[in-house]
Amino acid sequence: MFDYVEVIYLLTVITFVLGLQRMSHPLTARSGIVYAGVAMLIATVATFFLPGMGNFLLIAIGIAVGGGIGWVAAKRVAMTDMPQMVAIYNGMGGGAAAGIAAVQLLTPGVALSDASLSVVGGLIGAVSFAGSLIAFLKLQGWLRSKPITYPLQQPTNLLVLAAAIAFGVLMFFPSFTTWFPLSPLLPFFVLAFGFGFLMTLPIGGADMPVVISLYNALTGLAVAMDGFALQNYAMVVAGTLVGAAGSLLTLLMARAMNRSVGNVLFGAFGATEETGTTMVGSMKPIDAEDVAVMLAYAQKVVIAPGYGMAVAQAQQKVKELTDVLEAKGITVKFAIHPVAGRMPGHMNVLLAEAGVPYDRLFDRDEINPELEGTDVVLVIGANDVVNPAAHRQGSALFGMPILDVEKAKNVIVLKRGQGKGFAGIENDLFYRDNSRMLYGDAQETVGKLVQALKKL
Ligand code: NDP
Repeated sequence: MFDYVEVIYLLTVITFVLGLQRMSHPLTARSGIVYAGVAMLIATVATFFLPGMGNFLLIAIGIAVGGGIGWVAAKRVAMTDMPQMVAIYNGMGGGAAAGIAAVQLLTPGVALSDASLSVVGGLIGAVSFAGSLIAFLKLQGWLRSKPITYPLQQPTNLLVLAAAIAFGVLMFFPSFTTWFPLSPLLPFFVLAFGFGFLMTLPIGGADMPVVISLYNALTGLAVAMDGFALQNYAMVVAGTLVGAAGSLLTLLMARAMNRSVGNVLFGAFGATEETGTTMVGSMKPIDAEDVAVMLAYAQKVVIAPGYGMAVAQAQQKVKELTDVLEAKGITVKFAIHPVAGRMPGHMNVLLAEAGVPYDRLFDRDEINPELEGTDVVLVIGANDVVNPAAHRQGSALFGMPILDVEKAKNVIVLKRGQGKGFAGIENDLFYRDNSRMLYGDAQETVGKLVQALKKL
């Protein structure tokens, strides 16, 4: 029976890899998720047939409760709440890895090598669980997204980490318990969870893409460590795949922010709002009819979408607008910032879902040189990713590469009011002479633009 399980594991591992490969393109990504889900289901069922398995009822209850909650939550979640759901589910993975490590460490007579792997897996899993929880709270808006800092923060964090590692090492010295009343296991996990919480508090909203990807990678790593300790190679391969994909995504996201991962983790980016900067000028409103006239006379229009487009679910209307403009012979391009929205690839997914052809999407480096000659840029629910404060030394956003939309001849910003971006920084783009504000929910205002253009 064991051999059959090994063969099934091999098949699931191949399916995981195929799924991952399909996820790398928007057109095949949906089926990639199905591949990975099916592989996970088969691997889970196969695990019941491993030798030494027991407690079937408890496991079945666990699967029913966890699976049931996951099913209902995934059915109900709004598209805009998807990032925090990803963060919390990723955290659950880390927590589960920490739980498996704890059971390994409590198993009498476990080999030293397996116990060492479990200590490392437990530490990483616990950090990922606690850190993802803070990321969830920040994304959900239950904790302020700006960095939470206090004096001696980094030394305190280092001390907590060092203490967690020390208790991890003490687990290999059974004589320790003769003078310490508790097993080192408890303080080890408490400190590891504490380190995860503390290390994520000073990380600001703008850096969440890097943090979420990093914790994703850490969860994968923790699962792989547990897999080694349990000698379960499906876990080793699945964990390593998640770890590798998450690490690449972390680097990609850090590069998108022009920062090192170390700077994200320890820099408290955006902690201090620049002092002495007052916005010059005023936000000048415009109505949809006037924007439609401006668009009708344009040769080239660039659309820069952001999180607000996702909130408004305006992507279908944006597609309609693109069709109307193109029917009038106007060139339309989309400027996609890698961290626009709240998930890596958020804008690409929404626009692909609405049927915007992939060849209309351009990343920041491709589109920025073209913006100066562009007649109209429509900023649809974007804020941080178009904030020129990023070019100003002393600004909390300094150094983050942005879409340089302020260089266009005309900038029309579609947003509901005076709301700041996720990083909580004022945006002087809105006050510039070439900027006009089209207020309202983006689905509504883009709809009005479509109607007004059709009448022209
Ligand atoms: P921002 O969050 O900076 O700004 C979104 C803007 O949309 C707000 O200013 C808001 O203004 C407006 N808005 C909200 N709802 C609507 C609506 N219904 N209709 C019209 N406008 C609306 O978005 P960006 O995409 O520019 O930047 C993303 C930010 O999120 C970055 O700081 C990034 O680092 C961070 N982040 C990104 C992640 C990723 O992986 N992509 C993950 C986690 C964080 P108003 O309230 O006035 O309408």
